[in-house]
Amino acid sequence: MASEISTGTAPGWTSVSVLIPLALPKPYDYKVPAGMTVRPGDYVIVPLGPQELLGVVWGEGTGEVGHNRLKSIIEVLDAPPMPEVSRRFVDWVAGYTLSPAGSVLRLTIRAPGALEPQRMRTAYRLCDRRPPRMTPARLRVVETASDGFARSVRELAEEAGVSDGVVRGLVDAGTLQPVDLPTELPFDAPQPNASGIDLSPQQAEAAALLTAHVEAERFAAVLLDGITGSGKTEVYFEAVAAALRRGKQVLILLPEIALTSQFLERFERRFGCRPAEWHSDVPSRERRRVWRAVAEGSVSVVVGARSALFLPFPDLGLIVVDEEHDAAFKQEDGVAYHARDMAVVRASLGQFPVILSSATPSLETAVNVEQGRYASVRLDARFGAAELPDVSAIDMRLHPPERGAWLSPLLVTEIARALEAGEQAMLFLNRRGYAPLTLCRTCGHRIECPQCSAWLVEHRFRRELACHHCGYSAPVPKACPSCGAEDTLVACGPGVERIAEEVATLFPEARVAVVSSDNLRGPAAHEAVFAAIENREVDIVIGTQIVAKGHHFPWLTVVGVVDADLGLENGDLRAGERTFQLLQQVAGRAGRAERPGRVFLQSWMPEHNVMRALVSGRRDEFLVREAAARERVSLPPYGRLVGVVISSPDAELARKVAREMSRRAPQADNVSVLGPAPAPMALLRGRTRLRFLVKAGRNVNVQSYMQAWLADMKIPNAVRVSVDIDPYSF
Ligand code: ADP
Ligand code: ZN
Repeated sequence: MASEISTGTAPGWTSVSVLIPLALPKPYDYKVPAGMTVRPGDYVIVPLGPQELLGVVWGEGTGEVGHNRLKSIIEVLDAPPMPEVSRRFVDWVAGYTLSPAGSVLRLTIRAPGALEPQRMRTAYRLCDRRPPRMTPARLRVVETASDGFARSVRELAEEAGVSDGVVRGLVDAGTLQPVDLPTELPFDAPQPNASGIDLSPQQAEAAALLTAHVEAERFAAVLLDGITGSGKTEVYFEAVAAALRRGKQVLILLPEIALTSQFLERFERRFGCRPAEWHSDVPSRERRRVWRAVAEGSVSVVVGARSALFLPFPDLGLIVVDEEHDAAFKQEDGVAYHARDMAVVRASLGQFPVILSSATPSLETAVNVEQGRYASVRLDARFGAAELPDVSAIDMRLHPPERGAWLSPLLVTEIARALEAGEQAMLFLNRRGYAPLTLCRTCGHRIECPQCSAWLVEHRFRRELACHHCGYSAPVPKACPSCGAEDTLVACGPGVERIAEEVATLFPEARVAVVSSDNLRGPAAHEAVFAAIENREVDIVIGTQIVAKGHHFPWLTVVGVVDADLGLENGDLRAGERTFQLLQQVAGRAGRAERPGRVFLQSWMPEHNVMRALVSGRRDEFLVREAAARERVSLPPYGRLVGVVISSPDAELARKVAREMSRRAPQADNVSVLGPAPAPMALLRGRTRLRFLVKAGRNVNVQSYMQAWLADMKIPNAVRVSVDIDPYSF
């Protein structure tokens, strides 16, 4: 595949523009010294002020600065140049998100030491020169090395069962000759035909359609819309195989949380080896290896979290976005981009298809399908004998739990029944810790984070109160911090730890696993608990959203959602969609094998749209209603939205800047500026936050509008203005 990388001819430029991966809006010109040749995309070292920095050759010099005043490139690094399509992608993302191009470039080089030459190690190989004196020990070494493979002194000595000295003697005699070997192993090549599975007729039809898109080598966005357990992964694996057969690279994006060993094992079963992995838990040496192999075209499949989108693939032929609706694909820190949307852009720049896979498509994607911009492929039956679980709501007004408890007697009965049948039950509550709120019974004081507008969450195992937004924590106080009364603090509401306490009283014999990010640090801990569940070493799983995604637990038959109304409380316009997606995913964990599954939603408002849609399974109707509600108020995807957050440790200054911005907001057709109002987290990490929402018609160029607005705003250093195009919550 490496031969297909277009290295481009050196254009003989005397000056070039170089983009530096810092928060700089554009590339700067540099002189190409005589005798040096640079190609577009080359990684170079250039001076900037007193520093020498890494940069990427973006194009020919702009001539903005006189040639004589330019500084010279110091060095061209020995690495495959950044492909043209990657550079166009950086520019596109920068333009769309209104981020400095250099900040986006930084996303493409997130591997420490990626551009340093690989370290080599010395190994030894047998040559024809016989040693002057042959001993039995030396003979054993010669026999060991006679297979032609190069090995280190240590390896040879160990395999031959001799001392290092014997091997060194042969090196000195010239019988063993040194060779330099790379310290890093190459990646195995996934085999498109390693194992075929028999697809059902419906699966086969879907796979053929996706494969045809891959073979057309043209841009297309295709929704793979299949109910949980319908075999979406098996189906898109066929498209992956098709891309591999054409010698293309493939990227599979998963929400970070779904990147489990279960997925990697499945990949290995299908393709005969593990893919390259890219996410925050990958150690930096391995990141280097992956980055380098991607750039060289010597790795063909990368499975990664959102940041993998920025790897410099020279020959990408397919992107799969699994769980495309997942909120984790959008983040507001740094460059605020939605990985699903940017994957579509990357595919269109590279002229290849992107597959968006989901059982609960986002409203944006559903509307894109309906309006004909995206194609769609459906899978509406579970694979094999499995049936979709039966979902019902438990009306908590009619079947309330006992005082101080959180599980309705109806749900308790169902769990007991599952356990008696030797099956597993799962209780889902998207709340970490023991209790979300600590309240003083005497004065009513609620313990809040000193740096955020959030209550502190009690973690009883750790005996502390913690903020889930900034990481602040403190021991649980003996007395109320406000009125000083002792022993009057009470824990309000449940978190998973509290549910575990209740379960322990109800089912003292049951083996319980609490699955939340607090008890599971790192991939090994995840693997261990999921393996234990699969192997039926656990009877009751109590978990946060970690358990909602992608897992396949064949013995799980009863799922109880402890508080189905939870996500609807904060009332933003996406709350219904988000809650539906999450609970549908959770429900999808039940009954994935022969034993039928049942799902119980504990709700105080079972008549709510979301509950009714979940119980009836009428997803499309629900989406149509949600879409209509958005259309009425021209909200995304029927209109455009930009979030502008003004934040500062100095609250008064933040308000002052916001007022000033409000005065200067340009008038434009089809654009209205709402706010400033306190942002959803009005205080975060000690910074006061105010927010504008810019609402615009679908055809308005919101980027130009924002640029015009911000162009001559003087923002004091202590204030940060962050712009979020297409904010996830509104
Ligand atoms: P989804 O991603 O749609 O929830 P999966 O791809 O995880 O569904 O498939 C559900 C289960 O069914 C998995 O264990 C998968 O291996 C199995 N499965 C799906 N299709 C087939 C098939 N054609 N042959 C064998 N097993 C299959
Ligand atoms: Zn906090």
